[in-house]
Order: sequence, then structure tokens, then C-alpha cells
Amino acid sequence: PSDGTDFALDFATTPSPERRAAAEREEILADPGFGKHFTDHMASVEWTLDAGWHDATVHAYGPLSLDPSASVLHYAQEIFEGMKAYRHADGSIWSFRPDANARRFARSARRLALPELPEAVFVESIRQLVRADEAWVPSAPETSLYLRPFMIATEAFLGVRAAHAVQYHCIASPAGAYFTSGPKPVSIWLSTQYARAARGGTGAAKTGGNYAASLLPQQEAYEHGCQQVMFLDSEKGEYLEELGGMNVVLVRSDGTLVTPDSDSILEGITRDSILQLALDRGLRVERRSVALSEWRDGVADGTITEAFACGTAAVVTPIAELRGDGFTIGSPTNGAGELTMSLREELTDIQYGRRPDPHGWMVRL
Ligand code: PMP
Repeated sequence: PSDGTDFALDFATTPSPERRAAAEREEILADPGFGKHFTDHMASVEWTLDAGWHDATVHAYGPLSLDPSASVLHYAQEIFEGMKAYRHADGSIWSFRPDANARRFARSARRLALPELPEAVFVESIRQLVRADEAWVPSAPETSLYLRPFMIATEAFLGVRAAHAVQYHCIASPAGAYFTSGPKPVSIWLSTQYARAARGGTGAAKTGGNYAASLLPQQEAYEHGCQQVMFLDSEKGEYLEELGGMNVVLVRSDGTLVTPDSDSILEGITRDSILQLALDRGLRVERRSVALSEWRDGVADGTITEAFACGTAAVVTPIAELRGDGFTIGSPTNGAGELTMSLREELTDIQYGRRPDPHGWMVRL
């Protein structure tokens, strides 16, 4: 099989015999929370070294059967993605830059020595799954159907090498409004003892191990009354990297957006989109190394006026303060800065079809 982007597979759909009743579904959709409930179906594609990608299906959501020696369970050869399907006012369902997620999934695959799933198959798996579970896309403001594509090494083999058998799956989970009364500014804990990723490591890939490494520092953040953890570069511990699950952006008093550029952070699609919207407004955007001291000094002398975190789950989250051992960098605007909030609104308006989509980011499912 070709691995080009034009390579397509037909998904064979077998409706689940155990679809939830409409009343039960509606009860879940009224208050879905995040990541707790799953739809009736999932999409799957198989890969083997000999046969390439094959057997694309949409079938009942349910447990996977894995051999206990499956390499993913031992050596964490796995990658994933996170994206959303949005219901517009006319009932139509859309995804946001699925091609960008498909490309990032392929980059992650390369780093984890997994086969690349062709972009067309990735996008088609989402379209077919959302079609099967259309009724699970909520319609209340700021709600969505969260999509979780992932790939795991399933070969039954304990040797340490790239697996010869792999499975791709996509599951879907209705997501409630992250913030009910507007985004709540978060406090961030600066992790100085732990790093998330090192130069040459897997930081730029969306792979489970990076998240496993972030759990203990994240716990430390909770213990200090913070909601998120900020990681610094692993070599000098001087430069900002990103949060456990979000990118970080600083706003200067002249409206310039500054964000860390590093080969060990995950290139967020939300961040890329926000920066594009800022460029469209004629603002300046700087992607470069950003020292922690620049944030501290900039807040002290008034040249940094806002800070926010961004990612698919919460879109844009204003940062109220960054705290570490014995110090706090506050926020002059106490969190919800004006530019932060207006960029957030512009992006969510595009995603929910409330304003035109000048970059052709929305793809109908
Ligand atoms: N960094 C990390 C570590 C993340 O897990 C995420 C969420 N995928 C992001 C950044 C933001 O990426 P995106 O905007 O594509 O969701």
C-alpha cells in the first residue's frame, strides 16, 4: 500500500448492537464533563509490516484485546492526538484543521518508529466515526465532541525494536463547556526539579511517556494550589517550554505575542491558530527562546501585560500567576487580559461558525 496522502481506505461500518437509548444519551450530553463518557462506536485500522494499513472499520466501542506481551505495554510505543468536532447553529458538524492534527500524528509516528497513517485515512476515520455517532455531538454553547485518535504497538514480542504489528483507533467523548462563566485564570506552578523533555528526546511528539513524566510534577502543582505545571528547558533550566498539556504565550504592552520556540515542546495547533489571528490583526509575533527572567522582568517593568496558556481542551486560559519555590510572578491584569480574551473569542467564533473562516480551517464532517 502507498503511504501517500492520497491513499484512502473504505471504512466498513458495523452498527453497535448496544447503542445507548436516546434518553440516556441526552442525560449524558446535558452534563458530559470531560473524558468520562464515550460514544457508541470507534474507528480502527490495522497495520502489519507485511500488509501495511488494512481493515478499516467503524464498530461498537469496547475493550481492546491485547496480548500481555504487546510492546506498547512494556516500551510505550504509542502516540495520540486530541481534537474536537463542533456543532454549528444549523446542525452541521465541523472539525478544526484536522489536516494539521494528521500531520502532527505522522510526525509523532516517525519519532516513535511507528508507521505513518496517511493523512486522508486519519481524516476519513474521524468523518466516519462522527457520522456513526452524530447524535453524540452536543449543541449547547462551547460544548463539543472530543476526538482521541491513537496508535499502539500490538505485536506480541518482548524484543526492544519497532513493532511489526500496530493498531490505530479513534474514540470520541462528549465534552462540556470547559468554563461555564468565562475562562477562569489559572495559577501555574513552576517545576524546577523535573523536566518534561530533553534535547533529542520525545517532547515534540504527542506520546504517552511525555504525559507520564508530567504526572508527578503536576501533582506537586496541585499540592501548591496551582492547576497547571510549567516546564523549563532541561539543560539550563532558564527558558520557558510549555505546560503539562498546553502551550504558553506572553503578551507585551505593544500587543506583540511572544512564545517559546524549542524542539522539545509540542507544536500546538491552537497556538499556531491564535498567532495567525494576531498576525491578521497586524500584531507582531515572536517565536523564539523565552527566558523565565524575561517574564519576571517584563511583568515588573510593565512591558509584559498578559500571559495565557492555549490548547484544544480549554482553547485559551488566562494565566493569573506563575509560582515557584519562594517566588511569584503575578499578572498586572489579574489574569483575564483584554487581548487574550478577544483572541479567544475570535477563535471560538470561527470554530462554532459564528464568524467567517478566512483561512479555510473548518472542515465539514
Ligand atoms: N502542549 C502539550 C504538551 C499538549 O498536550 C497540548 C495539547 N495537545 C498542547 C501543547 C496544545 O496543543 P493543541 O493546541 O494542538 O491542542
